Amino acid sequence: MLLFSPHKNIIGHSIVHADRSIQASHSTLMDGAEVALLDCGVMRFEPNTASKLSLVISCGVHGNETAPIEIVSQLVSDVLSGELSGAARVLFILANPWAIAANKRFVDLNMNRLFCGQWQHEDLRLKEVKRAAKLEAYVANFFAEEPVTVEQRLHYDCHTAIRASARERFAVYPFVSGRVLPEQQQAFLEIAEIHTVLMQQQSANTFSSFTAVKQDAESFTLELGRVMPFGANNLERFSGIDVLLRSLISGADLPRSPTYDIEQFVVHHTLEKSSASWEFFVPDNVPNFSEYPPGSLISRDGSAEYLVGSEPEYIVFPNPKVRVGDRAGLMLRKLR
Ligand SMILES: [Zn+2]
Repeated sequence: MLLFSPHKNIIGHSIVHADRSIQASHSTLMDGAEVALLDCGVMRFEPNTASKLSLVISCGVHGNETAPIEIVSQLVSDVLSGELSGAARVLFILANPWAIAANKRFVDLNMNRLFCGQWQHEDLRLKEVKRAAKLEAYVANFFAEEPVTVEQRLHYDCHTAIRASARERFAVYPFVSGRVLPEQQQAFLEIAEIHTVLMQQQSANTFSSFTAVKQDAESFTLELGRVMPFGANNLERFSGIDVLLRSLISGADLPRSPTYDIEQFVVHHTLEKSSASWEFFVPDNVPNFSEYPPGSLISRDGSAEYLVGSEPEYIVFPNPKVRVGDRAGLMLRKLR
């Protein structure tokens, strides 16, 4: 594969080039499609035909979430070899090459808190901070350059979770005022075998929030399973997302409505680590989407307690080890 030579694929290339500046390189595929390696781990694909879709596929915002990185890398390889012929414009992103190389969630800062311009308020010398700024620019340019034929902007930011989940896969739908989850997007999630959606109720600094809020895309953070090292993933468990992404890239006819309703949850309360003396009563190993009955004590800081309200709540992303002032978890309610 010339673009990544002498490396086997975009993963190998990205790991080696994380700290080098690379010249943008372009090439034309057999069918006339154009590919451009814009930066380490950032590849744009432009089909030879008028495309209706601008699709951003990102992974590796957290470097140790390897299964989506392997899936995206294979998509890139298949597009370049011609095995997967593309009808959609696609921007492929391996977001955090340093963390991927180190097999760590992040190097300096959690990158998925740096988007929507949040990077401007952080130390701009840090790798993740600089990279978040660049990724915003690549994505903005990708959408700005789209031809008039494009009818839809989509972004899937693919992750795996540190902890087990009572629901193996779920999507997070960023908050945009007045927006509801379209039937077509529910149908797409169904293809990816995702039956649970967390509807955010306020804007966030995630990558998918950036594309939703600032770039007018339908975008999702996808939690696709458990964190495993490279090579240890059972990729069969990720076949749904692979099918969806391949269908979208190739321009396959996809259903416009789901066969059944996707379960939607809303954020009822954001748990914040309010001080060093903040206490957390959720055990370390509790799975995401664990249900807590009314009255359960979740956290306490001095006299301030968080108790589950009048209906059951479900916890996701509990992490008491965050910095003071950061989010330590979310309490959800099922949308009826
Ligand atoms: Zn992640």
